[in-house]
Amino acid sequence: MRTKTLKKNKINVVTLGCSKNVYDSEVLMGQLRASNKEVVHEEEGNIVVINTCGFINNAKEESVNTILEYVQKKEEGIVDKVFVTGCLSERYKPDLQKEIPNVDEYFGTTELPGLLKALGADYKHELIGERVTTTPKNYAYFKIAEGCDRPCSFCAIPIMRGKHRSTPMEELVVEAEKLAAKGVKELILIAQDLTYYGLDLYKKRNLAELLEKLARVEGIEWIRMHYAFPTGFPMDVLEVMRNEPKVCNYLDIPLQHISDSILKSMRRGTTKAKTTKLLEEFRAAVPEMAIRTTLIVGYPGETEEDFQTLKQWVKEMRFERLGCFTYSHEENTHAYNLEDDVPEEVKMDRANEIMEIQSQISWELNQQKIGKEFRVVIDRKEGGYFVGRTEFDSPDVDNEVLINAEDDYLRTGEFFNVKITAAEDFDLYAEVV
Ligand code: SF4
Repeated sequence: MRTKTLKKNKINVVTLGCSKNVYDSEVLMGQLRASNKEVVHEEEGNIVVINTCGFINNAKEESVNTILEYVQKKEEGIVDKVFVTGCLSERYKPDLQKEIPNVDEYFGTTELPGLLKALGADYKHELIGERVTTTPKNYAYFKIAEGCDRPCSFCAIPIMRGKHRSTPMEELVVEAEKLAAKGVKELILIAQDLTYYGLDLYKKRNLAELLEKLARVEGIEWIRMHYAFPTGFPMDVLEVMRNEPKVCNYLDIPLQHISDSILKSMRRGTTKAKTTKLLEEFRAAVPEMAIRTTLIVGYPGETEEDFQTLKQWVKEMRFERLGCFTYSHEENTHAYNLEDDVPEEVKMDRANEIMEIQSQISWELNQQKIGKEFRVVIDRKEGGYFVGRTEFDSPDVDNEVLINAEDDYLRTGEFFNVKITAAEDFDLYAEVV
């Protein structure tokens, strides 16, 4: 493995895609470090591992371009070895091996032991919960399950990640304790379908019990939930959210659409009436809850009427946080049998219209925060500001709270009480109180 220039082997892990890929890269790095391998994350290294995303067209393109970029560097002798893992590799390995043969080896999403062997390391089962976190040290993504049993027509994730597998609760508690010991204060719970947790292992939805157990881990201050699913939502989670101060009054629940005919075609197992009722139950149970959702526009057969229904509903529901994607026609998904009949520019126009409505809603909701006090955690210093978040904001996707660095010196990773002094559509300005 030694290079012509006798460079010491340094493994550079490059992560693309979602927070679950971030988690997987961190586990890989933890295993490599335990085998005394020098490993870095997105820095210089003569051996490169690209953890790819294969979800939708844009993400696939970015993954292919990143592979080509490093293969180019290999041909120029800048790097010695290039390995590829993650969802794109899981989904398209035979095509990639043919199209980009100058990659040393391709691995799927369940082939960590094989990848480690190729890197001269051994897989150590006893390292449960050991990982090299790549996020700011005050928070960490916390994957509680892998895979998905849902039949959503547009989604290729079950093809790449397999069936739903919950991680045993005792392992998760050990992992949380280890993270807390390293200074992590916020656990961001992730899975493909968070609310399915426990159905395979404990034959019941067990997210509420897991939340209570994690809340008892010393050092953990905030527990945040991402990727809930509307159908069969475990309502006991709301009780824990209401009663347990460490569980953020925050829920990310991708709903994708609201027109009944589109929800039916998407095989989401719910309706406009049921979804609206569920959200009303959320608001009644935890009035100050911030709800984040994700929508898809331009799905096959989406009529102007379907879109108007969605637009009107977004105005009525007034989500605190909302993201909108354009439909991506994905091979081997159920929807791939349908005609991708909404033109790209119409898809883009519809996504922009939804986000314009949401910017206005977000601006109005943020105005109501002026003069109010909140507890914020400081993630970083940027320009002349300390940048933080309230419990209603998840990293990278939600609002940020900006505190003038000339007025105060704030330690990153610490919590402070602030008063909101000004607000824009997606950012708040504050002073420490
Ligand atoms: S629940 Fe999410 S990950 Fe699972 S199939 Fe549906 S969209 Fe895909």
